[in-house]
Amino acid sequence: MAAIIDGKAISLQIKDELKEKAAALKAAGTNVTLAVIQVGSNPASCVYVRNKKKGCEYIGIGSLSYELPEETTQEELLTLIEELNARVDVNGILVQLPLPTHIDEDTVIRAIDPKKDVDGFHPQSVGALCIGQPGFVSCTPAGIIQLLKRSGIEIAGKECVVLGRSNIVGKPMALLLLRENATVTIAHSKTKDLKEVTKRADILIVAVGRPKLVTRDYVKEGAVVIDVGINRDENNKMCGDVDFDDVAPVCNAITPVPGGVGPMTIAMLLNNCIESVKLQG
Ligand code: NAD
Repeated sequence: MAAIIDGKAISLQIKDELKEKAAALKAAGTNVTLAVIQVGSNPASCVYVRNKKKGCEYIGIGSLSYELPEETTQEELLTLIEELNARVDVNGILVQLPLPTHIDEDTVIRAIDPKKDVDGFHPQSVGALCIGQPGFVSCTPAGIIQLLKRSGIEIAGKECVVLGRSNIVGKPMALLLLRENATVTIAHSKTKDLKEVTKRADILIVAVGRPKLVTRDYVKEGAVVIDVGINRDENNKMCGDVDFDDVAPVCNAITPVPGGVGPMTIAMLLNNCIESVKLQG
């Protein structure tokens, strides 16, 4: 049976380290502050925003909350971002996605000062990641690297397959694994002989948004399986993209859903807030 990679415990360890860093910065006169903007009241976004603010409180940094009505115009949102870009007492700016359809997400992401882009979605942050320069890294893939390292799983030289090629998970994940000297394959919905490709993986990372798509016939015996998916199954129970009960007996280590990758995303957002001080320095 596989070892269960406990994202809850590892994220708590990281948050406790960040608490110390936040206290040291405070003692040196820097009060780190994250501005969180939400437009409308998408229920999932409300939960995420609440958890992000709770995370700030836990590590002892400030958070400013902007809960804007659904009918907020793009101009109004861009004006707020400009104000926050200019404020020296704001270190990070996060716009909770998805935005209402009348607002163009790309325009909004590009409006955030890359030095305050704690989600790591700005094209400049993505470009910096691509060529190995300093910049913010998208939180979920950064969290997965931490999960692997802190579980003692070697990445260098390993055959890694990333299933999914989204801008916020799949692509930055592949770049981070490459930075860690893995041999990386990205597979997606158009990949031929998908199972043959995923079966090559020593480390298989799944981010497709399809409940329990990955069964044991996608997995090499003894592989490490990281499940990014957050879905609901037929009984409305939270589940991942991996069929945990089917895959766990054949792999070496696996992340559960919930309690695997999910908690790491917020921990890495908080890490980016602390790191922002260096980037702004
Ligand atoms: P997305 O919809 O943007 O991308 C999905 C990717 O999967 C696409 O690249 C597509 O090519 C690929 N794909 C879809 N169906 C496939 C199939 N049948 N076979 C092979 N490839 C297929 O999704 P995303 O934003 O990357 O999110 C993926 C999942 O991760 C979702 O369940 C999402 O909720 C979850 N997620 C979790 C966190 C977290 O903090 N744990 C963060 C972000 C996303």
